[in-house]
Amino acid sequence: MKAFFGVISILLITTSCDALHKNNALSEEHPSSDTDFHSYANLNEISTKHLHLELDVNFDNETIYGVARHEMNNRGADTAVFDINGLMIQKVTIGEKGSEEEADMFIDKMDKDSILGQALMVPIKKVTKFINIYYQTTERSDALDWLDPKLTSSKTKPFLYTQGQAILTRTWIPLQDSPSNRITYSADVKVPTDLLAVMSAKNPTQKNKEGKYHFEMDKPIPAYLIALAVGDLEYHAFSENSGVYAEPELLPSCANEFDAIPRMITAAEQLYGPYQWGQYDILVLPYSFPFGGMENPMLTFANPTLLAGDKSLVSVIAHELAHSWSGNLVTNRTWNDFWLNEGFTVYFEQRIMESIYGKEVADILALVEFDELKDELIRIKKSANPEDSKLHLALEGRNPDDGMTDIAYVKGAFFLKTIEKQVGRQAFDAFLKKYFQTFQFKTVDSEQFTAFLNEELLSKQNQTFDYNQWIYQTGLPANCIQLRSDRLIQMEKLADDFTKNKKSFAPKTTYTWKKVGRRKKKIKKIEQIKYQDHIVQEWQTFIRRLPRNLSMEKMKEIDRYLKFSNSGNSELLTEWFILSANCGYAKVNKSQIQAFLTKVGRRKYLMPIYEALLLNKETRSMAITTFQGAKESYHAVSRNSIEELILETKKN
Ligand SMILES: [Zn+2]
Repeated sequence: MKAFFGVISILLITTSCDALHKNNALSEEHPSSDTDFHSYANLNEISTKHLHLELDVNFDNETIYGVARHEMNNRGADTAVFDINGLMIQKVTIGEKGSEEEADMFIDKMDKDSILGQALMVPIKKVTKFINIYYQTTERSDALDWLDPKLTSSKTKPFLYTQGQAILTRTWIPLQDSPSNRITYSADVKVPTDLLAVMSAKNPTQKNKEGKYHFEMDKPIPAYLIALAVGDLEYHAFSENSGVYAEPELLPSCANEFDAIPRMITAAEQLYGPYQWGQYDILVLPYSFPFGGMENPMLTFANPTLLAGDKSLVSVIAHELAHSWSGNLVTNRTWNDFWLNEGFTVYFEQRIMESIYGKEVADILALVEFDELKDELIRIKKSANPEDSKLHLALEGRNPDDGMTDIAYVKGAFFLKTIEKQVGRQAFDAFLKKYFQTFQFKTVDSEQFTAFLNEELLSKQNQTFDYNQWIYQTGLPANCIQLRSDRLIQMEKLADDFTKNKKSFAPKTTYTWKKVGRRKKKIKKIEQIKYQDHIVQEWQTFIRRLPRNLSMEKMKEIDRYLKFSNSGNSELLTEWFILSANCGYAKVNKSQIQAFLTKVGRRKYLMPIYEALLLNKETRSMAITTFQGAKESYHAVSRNSIEELILETKKN
């Protein structure tokens, strides 16, 4: 997932247990829930091997009616425990389809503020293999985002998509919702005939008359990667094994924006080995999608804000593609080691970007993210959970979403970059390739990673590296790699000069004399710094460098020449609107800020803009009024986070 954001956490840490797990580095994997605090499933005794879903998607009452047919690996259990949250369970049967017998079931009482939901317990025999759960979703099924036609591009057809990570799959499918267990799945899905269904599986490219679709995912994946979307979708192919799905209105711009995908796949395969999933497609969702992208296997879900028009945000696609190795092929065993998914992916994303656009651009991307990490470290240090700047987290009793910070993503990536610098790129690439091969279709934890690092890289090279400090201690170790970009240094100088009253952006006319025959001719030259002279990350650096109390005149000057308030690039708009809120310019570009907050549902953008508006007394009420008007169009993930933010800033 690509979802950097700053959440003010109001949950208190409960226990902190850095005790290392008992598995050996290369031991044969078997699913285990004893270290996964975020699932009730008794995976040690019984675990799903294959899941078949029968789903009827009803837009009239926004409900999915389903049967989840679990084929189990039963190691002699007398009870099977599944996770559910916000589901209505009708009945449970045992046996293969056609010869089923109704079974007893027990559902745990739900705590008022339960994060996990409830345990569904089914008494079984030691030989039971097939368990079928008949159910329907409810309005508390938070993974589901049902969109009214007015929230889609066509404005005429509704849309549905799911978001399972971290522990929301249990809100639309009753299953053992732990990343420590990998399952294959298939599905028969019925949808209205004017809509197309797609899943994280082999997909149709056209609607059919019956509205019935069959799906197969024959590679074992963790439950959080099961995904479904239903909408008025069309397909555009980039190559034999890659393409994009979108609503018809968006398809032409998607086809143009993401045409680097085949090159990205080639670059990624050259780095770390063959792409294992066959097809790689992108699904561009409506604007309410709370994340930049979600790496659902074979079908990345992407936010339409990536359609900047100039391919400037395509690194998010590199990120989601990289997840086809880190995260989807090799998966974190529990959410405490989320950095193993995201840190590797950010590292890998930057390597893909380097292959295609060069080292200078990749370094700029890394430095801009490093800037964000520094802010995150300060925020976490002051928060109720200062331990959260360790890579290995202690999330017991907390929502695993609390671990989705820049620590997992950027500190994780800089950890790997620092090792690479010490051992050399060639050795590190060979190590990573072997890591992906060794652990493919398995799950790992921090201890297994460090044992493998020791065995396969450090001891072979006679090197020492204090990885424990990176993984198990807070803050940023002193040996962290230092990057430098002359282009970003230039942008900081431009910001400083501009602040010191220079008219940096107005056209400058200069004259030079040129000899033409016997005469000298006066040549007029007009020079001007233009927006398109720099990539968006350079402009982000420029804005971040400006003082937070920049004068109205200066802000207006920037808008006159660079037109930031009307940019089509959401990254740039976010930086600009934060500064606008900080320095009081938000009363000038209020309409653009409100339009952006109403259109876009991506949490990475919403959170810092709302936070800046809420912290300034002059714009606080504007933030609340805008939220009241826009919240119906946000996904629950974004809505809940902003509501928390409003409460939290009220206290201060
Ligand atoms: Zn990610």
